Amino acid sequence: MTIEQNKVVAVHYTLNEGTAEGQLVESTNGGEPLAFIYGVGMMIPAFEANLAGLTIGDAFAFGIPAAQAYGEYDQTALVEVPKQIFEDEGKIPDGLLEVGNVLPLQDQEGNRMQGMVAYVGLDKVKLDFNHPMAGVDLFFTGHVEGVREAEPAELEHGHVHGAGGHHHH
Ligand SMILES: [Zn+2]
Repeated sequence: MTIEQNKVVAVHYTLNEGTAEGQLVESTNGGEPLAFIYGVGMMIPAFEANLAGLTIGDAFAFGIPAAQAYGEYDQTALVEVPKQIFEDEGKIPDGLLEVGNVLPLQDQEGNRMQGMVAYVGLDKVKLDFNHPMAGVDLFFTGHVEGVREAEPAELEHGHVHGAGGHHHH
């Protein structure tokens, strides 16, 4: 059975930045494989395209440019705000404004968003609203662990049941 629309696919993979030798982002090795329903929008389309037609035991190694993954880095998503908006009763809570902290925020329309503290100045803070993987080229290596038909309930729920998926039955 080969990987195609509506098959449940399980893969072990390692994700590095840029090339197979780049900075390690994540890996399923030593844990459960990643299981997903193929072709239903759960995964990055370019990731799925590279797995098309593979079968159990097949190895893969491919790169995905940032633009086809989490998008290019957007300079306009780096926003400067006054430090005082973080004050609570006239004081900024200890440890709140440290570079790398991810802060849950709301815009004027009440939309929730996450901004990472990118820079802390004397009275201003720069928040980065880019996806953490924006601007990063991805490189995947791994192998196909399983391919099977999706159960009707899985297609209905839009997720995999059992190994590597949801355990709610
Ligand atoms: Zn379910």
